[in-house]
This record gives sequence, C-alpha cells and structure tokens, in this order.
Amino acid sequence: MLDSLNFELITPTAAIQRKLHGARAKCLQRLIRLEMPVPETVALSIPLVRAIAAGQRPDLSGILGHFGSWPVISVRSSPVEPDWGGPGTILNIGMNRATEAYLSSRIGADAAAALHLKFIKSYALDVARLDDEMFDIPDLTPDRALEAYETEMDEPFPQDIEAQLFEVLKSMSRAWEGTSARLLRQSKGAPENAGIGLVVQRMAFGLGKGESGAGVIHFINSDTGKRQKVGRYLSQAQGRDALSNEGQAMYLTRDKRGPSLEETQPDIFADLERYGAIARKGLREEMQIEFTLEGGNLHILDALVTPRSARARVAVAVALADDKVIAREDAVLRIDTKTVADLLHRQVAPKAARDVILTGFAASPGAACGKLVFNTVAAQAAAARGEASILIRRETSPEDIRGMHAARGIVTERGGMTSHAAVIARGLGLPCVSGASGMEIDAKARILRIPDGRIFSEGDLVTVDGSTGQVMAGEVAMVEAGIGGPFRKLMTWADKLRDIGVRANADTPTDAEVALVFQAEGIGLCRTEHMFFDEDRLTVLREAIFASNTNDRQAALERLLPMQRRDFEQIFTIMAPRPVCLRLFDPPLHEFLPSTRSGIRELAEAMDLTAREVQMRIDDLSEFNPMLGMRGVRLGITVPEIYAMQARAIFEAAILASPKGGPAVVPEIMIPLVSAKREVELVKSRIDAVAADVAAEKGVSIEYRLGVMVETPRAALRAGDIAMHASFLSFGTNDMTQMTYGLSRDDAGRFMSDYVNEGVFPEDPFHALDQDGVGELLGLACERGRHVREKLTLSVCGEHGGDPDSIAFCRRLGMDYVSCSPFRVPVARLAAAQLAIRDPLVHEENFDFPEA
Ligand code: PEP
Ligand code: MG
Repeated sequence: MLDSLNFELITPTAAIQRKLHGARAKCLQRLIRLEMPVPETVALSIPLVRAIAAGQRPDLSGILGHFGSWPVISVRSSPVEPDWGGPGTILNIGMNRATEAYLSSRIGADAAAALHLKFIKSYALDVARLDDEMFDIPDLTPDRALEAYETEMDEPFPQDIEAQLFEVLKSMSRAWEGTSARLLRQSKGAPENAGIGLVVQRMAFGLGKGESGAGVIHFINSDTGKRQKVGRYLSQAQGRDALSNEGQAMYLTRDKRGPSLEETQPDIFADLERYGAIARKGLREEMQIEFTLEGGNLHILDALVTPRSARARVAVAVALADDKVIAREDAVLRIDTKTVADLLHRQVAPKAARDVILTGFAASPGAACGKLVFNTVAAQAAAARGEASILIRRETSPEDIRGMHAARGIVTERGGMTSHAAVIARGLGLPCVSGASGMEIDAKARILRIPDGRIFSEGDLVTVDGSTGQVMAGEVAMVEAGIGGPFRKLMTWADKLRDIGVRANADTPTDAEVALVFQAEGIGLCRTEHMFFDEDRLTVLREAIFASNTNDRQAALERLLPMQRRDFEQIFTIMAPRPVCLRLFDPPLHEFLPSTRSGIRELAEAMDLTAREVQMRIDDLSEFNPMLGMRGVRLGITVPEIYAMQARAIFEAAILASPKGGPAVVPEIMIPLVSAKREVELVKSRIDAVAADVAAEKGVSIEYRLGVMVETPRAALRAGDIAMHASFLSFGTNDMTQMTYGLSRDDAGRFMSDYVNEGVFPEDPFHALDQDGVGELLGLACERGRHVREKLTLSVCGEHGGDPDSIAFCRRLGMDYVSCSPFRVPVARLAAAQLAIRDPLVHEENFDFPEA
C-alpha cells in the first residue's frame, strides 16, 4: 500500500501536507502547534479518499482507535484550496442506542438523545439521501426516527460505528466526484483532477451539563476589514447552529440588545480573544474560529480565513504588514489584480440574485443599473432628468460618444475586447458588455428581444456587469468602489517594488485627470482623433477630411488648431512634469463618416453642400477594408496639412504649458500605422519644419521626441530601419494582433467564443497577448530596434498593456513601460510589482519614478 494512501493523527510533528491532506488538515495542525485546545483529529489523505470513493474500505478500526472506547466523531472536508468547496460536515457519527445509553450518564439523557436524533437525521439526509419530510413526526424521539428510517429504507439503521463511518466517508468522497461539485470548483480555478482530503475529529458535544454550546468568532468587519469582534454563541448547540439561529444566539461582545459571552463567560471570552491574536500572528491571517464549550471547557474545532470583500482584503493585508505580521511584499502578493479591478468600480454584490438576460465579453469592468435606452438622444434625455440609463447598440461609432458619456453602462451586440465601445468605455470607466450576440435590437421600435424570447422596451430597468460580461433584468444589489487609504498605501508599496513603468492611455483633459488620480507616470498614448468625438468638433474634423481642395481644408484646419492647442495645453499642464505622448491622427475613416441622415444633413449645412453631394463624397471615401485603408500615417502622407496642423498645435501648447523659468515641456509625438521607413522620414522632415517655424515665430528653442507606433507586422520586421529615425517605439498590439492574425478587431467577437471553446485559441488574442506569434514579432522588433539605437525607449500601448500576463511578457522583453486605460493603471502597477517580487530580472534597470 502506498504511504500516501493512509491516515495520520494530527500532532505537531505529524507529516501533514496541504497538497496531500488538504488545507483544513494543515490549518488544524497549525492550531495544534499554536497550543490551541483542538480535539483529536485524524487526517485522511487525498489518495485514500479517492480509494474510498472507488469502494475500498480503509482501516476503520485504526482510525476509530484514536478516539477511545466510545468514539463520537465528525467528518469534515479538507480541499487543497478552501474555496474549492467540498461536501458539508457530518457530526455525531458513532451515536447509536448503546452510545446514547452510555452518554446519558455522562451528559444527561436529554442531551444524549438529542445527539442521537441529530445523527439519525443527518445520516438519513446526507448519506442515505432521504427527504427531510419523513421526520415531520410529532414528539420525534430517536426510536421514532429509527423506525421512520427503517420504513423508508427497508433496512435497519446502521448501529455498527465502523459501518456508519464507512458510509459517511464513501458518501462524502463520492459527493466530491459529482458533476456539479466538479463544475463549481473548476469555476474557482481547481484543476480537473483535484482531489479532497477528509478530517475525522472527536466531537466536543456542545450539549449537556455545565455551560455547553457552540459559536463562531472573527476579528474583522468582513466588508471594511477594520478590526472588530464579530460572531454569535448559542447554548446547547453544535457546529454553526449559532449562525443559523441568530435570534436565539448570544452576542459575543457586550451589547445593549441582549446578553453576551463577554459578560456571562468572561474567561472563555478572554481565551477566545487570545487565540484570535495567536492565530493572526501564527497563521499570518485574520481567522474565523469555530469553537465549542463542553461542560465549561473551550475547544477550538476549526479555523478558516475570514471571508471578506475585496476592500477588506486590501485593508487586512495592509494592516498585517503595518503590524509586521507579514512583509510588505507579502501584502502586495496577497491581492490579486482582479481584486484591484473590482475595487475601482461599483460591483454587483457577491450574493445578489442574477436574472441573466444576455452574455457577452466582459469588456469594461464595474456594474451599473439603469433604464434601457436605444440611442444617444434618449441617453442624454435620461441624464437631463437625472436618471441612470444603459445604452444598447448593435455597435457604437463616434456618433454615439455623447450617448456613452450620458449613460451609466454600455451593451453592444457586435464587437470584442478592442471594439470602439470597449475601448471608449474603459477610458470612461463605464461598465461595458460587448459582443452580446443572440439578441435582436429593433432600434426604431425601441425593443430588445433576448434569446429566451423575452422582450424589453425603452425604460425597462437592466443591470450591466462589465466584470463578468452579463446583463441582468432589473436592479441588482451593488457594493461601492473602495479605493481608500489602505488601497493607496498598498499601491505606494507596489510602486517602490516594480521595475517597469506604467503610463495611461488618455485622450482628453478629463482622462488625464483620471490618469493622475490613478498615479500613472505619464501618458503613453493620446489618441488625438478622440478629442473630436464632441459633436461640434466632429463636424469640423469631418470638414477637414472631406475637403476636396486645399483652401477648404486649410479653413477647417485653422478652426481645428485652437481646439487641439487648448486640449494639449491642458493635458501637458495636468500631467507636468510627467511625459505625454501624443499620437498623430489615426482615424479609421469609417468611424468618422456620418452614417445617419441627421449626421449627413449637419455636415451638408456646415460645408454648404447638398445632402446628395455629401453622400457622394462619402461614397468616394468609403473603403472596403477601412481598418487597412487610409488610416494613420497614410492620411499624414497624402494630406500633409493635417499632421502639420497637429504638430503646430502640439508645439504651441508645449510653449504655453512650460512654466516660466522651469523646465520646458518636451512633447512626445508618435506616428501611427507605419509600415515603411520612408513614411517616418517624410513625416519627420515635415514636423521638423513646423518646429523650426514655431521656434522662429515664438523666439524659443523647441525640443521634442519623435516615436513610431509599431502596429503592422512589417514595421516590427523593419524596426531596425525605423529606429534610425525614432527615439521610441510603442507597440500598438491591437492592430498588431489584428494584422498578424488577419482577424478583424470589430468582427472577431462573433466567432471568438467558438474559437476559444474549441481550443483553437487558448484565449481571445485581443485580450491576452499572443506571446507565440504577435509576441515573436514584438521580440524581433525590440531586438532589431535596440541593435540600431541602444537607448531606444520601448513600450506597449495596445489594450494588452493592462493585462498582467501580457505585462509579464513585455517586461521580459526589456520594455520600459506599458500604457493602458486609466482604470487599468492600478491593475498594471500591482501586476508589475508582483512580477518584480516573483521573478526578479537579472539585469535590474534603474527606473526613476516621479514623486506621487
Ligand atoms: C493599437 O492598435 O494597439 C492602438 C493602441 O491603437 P488603436 O487602438 O487606436 O488602433
Ligand atoms: Mg492602432
């Protein structure tokens, strides 16, 4: 027989291992080592439990031999990770007629009969799987319960203790193998083959003579994490009865509402406090302790990490580090990045009931509830009435921006993680579910039909959960965002530990303010065309793009210049002295052409054309593949006046934002969608000319840094050539992923889940960087670029910049920083710190972080 196929009495020195016996067994050993009064406990290993599930009979007399001549015991599950769950505890195994008789003299006849009855009932329900109703008998006694059992089962209730224990062990080990238990634990990250250990413990009765009862105590407020003694105690009770009968249970601390354990049993209460403090220090955690009093004696039956909210998790980790119970590095490692994303937004309350009506991509985290609206006008009208709304669209375009600003949450039928709706929602910090396919939207009739046939109309309440990708009917309970003092402290520690920079993608002065709140070190990507999503500005931008002659275009650009200059000046001022990287226009034309009748009419009015003429011009400019068309630098090369205007706006703004006598603002200018060195040369010479003009006009010298966005595979391959003219390269991994896979950012959402479910892609490559393919191009580009220019600054500014695994990859390539939506900045800061702790780089770079 394998050694691991065995059981161990838990003693301070027994060979108990978490991987072999589960977390509960290991925790109990720690409590024993801390000299707590834990009743005798035997741990059954995972392989042994597996064998029992397969029908093998363990050495039952050996196990029972540890519990004296009248064993009465409980069996609890012991999974490797506590949140993997496991079958419920079964108490009082060993109770039979003889044991009842024996115990009657020790603890009293009533208590002994009550224990016997409890066991018959729990055995019938949890092991024999009978119905609770069979015990609806007046004045139920053990004899009557045994009779009912025998009638139902057509066989006697097992009196033999070994038989009882074997049946209990078999039942619990088989429950773990059941489909629903497996699915549940896999959803919590358990591997497919996860096993379970079991612990068998001598019962401390909680019923009988002297002060007997059971309770639970913990030492923090589960919502806030603040220190507070919480719990209940119930006399003549077992297990967690005190929590299920709060009405009759006693308070633990003094309370105006009723008697407390602190008053009635001060010594016991003092011991519990002491054990709580010992457990906190010894187990380096805030523990919830399950205890029993048996004839006035305290027994500690179990302890588990006190369940807590995301906010409390941070508060506890910080408090433990402040009290030097754990190191700051441990505190940083204890908070998973998902927790941080949750903290920044309102969330659906963990236990809230969900009537899910649609499912799509979890495109922007947080949750919001509001009235369903189908267009921008309705969203704005709702906002004007002070009502929250949820905007639902097939997909969004710049014409929806105002509606997105007015709404509390966004749902789209089409699109994936990098669709227009997803990117904008993340920037605005709004929850968004994209690619929620299977529904029918009738925008005209303002009706939504969901896959199960239900119909929702404008004004119906819905809740969007952008953290899970679900849309629910009605209003669902929420918990508030929690970025208070402990969070800030934790993030300061993280910043000191990390070795890769974190900037924000911020398009407007408002975004820049948010970036600063989240302590971004600068702006890594300002998509300057996004400054034109405002209605008035959009028309002027369209005029500039639409103009068919130089004069008209120049006139439109002259109106755009002051708008851009004002925004840039504000952004420089907000972010100073941090760097700001402005990307020259990259408007995929289809996103900027009017698509509605009113949009066409407005543009016709502005340009003094007929609607028909505008439509013809739209037809002229329409592209079969807009994402591969006249975008980015291609517009800059063919219509040079646009980039010239932007360069002027940037330089003039930098001069205005530079403090008198202080260091001048040095803007970073980035060219998008480059695929050839010559594109960079041409744009650079034009920007240099504008810089020289502005310098001469203003009588100042102008310094700037020119960079290239590497987002086509060719730019990555030719990074050596390109780096000759660029002081930095920033990887636009959204487009790079699109072009490397030949996978449309806007359309891939339709089949992405099939692809992921079928295992074609391990994950949506727009969400998690494809390290094998796209990553290889990034690696090549870094190497080729740095070969030509040793001090070349490298970064990633696609959405992957906020994804922890992708950050790990970029860090390993030696990139200087990542840049992501402002709301993902704290996630990236924490992820980067955790990487630096877990995976220190051999050649440490020295990064200068600006003062917080
Ligand atoms: C990218 O392509 O990764 C990028 C950051 O640019 P955009 O999303 O604006 O195309
Ligand atoms: Mg791009």
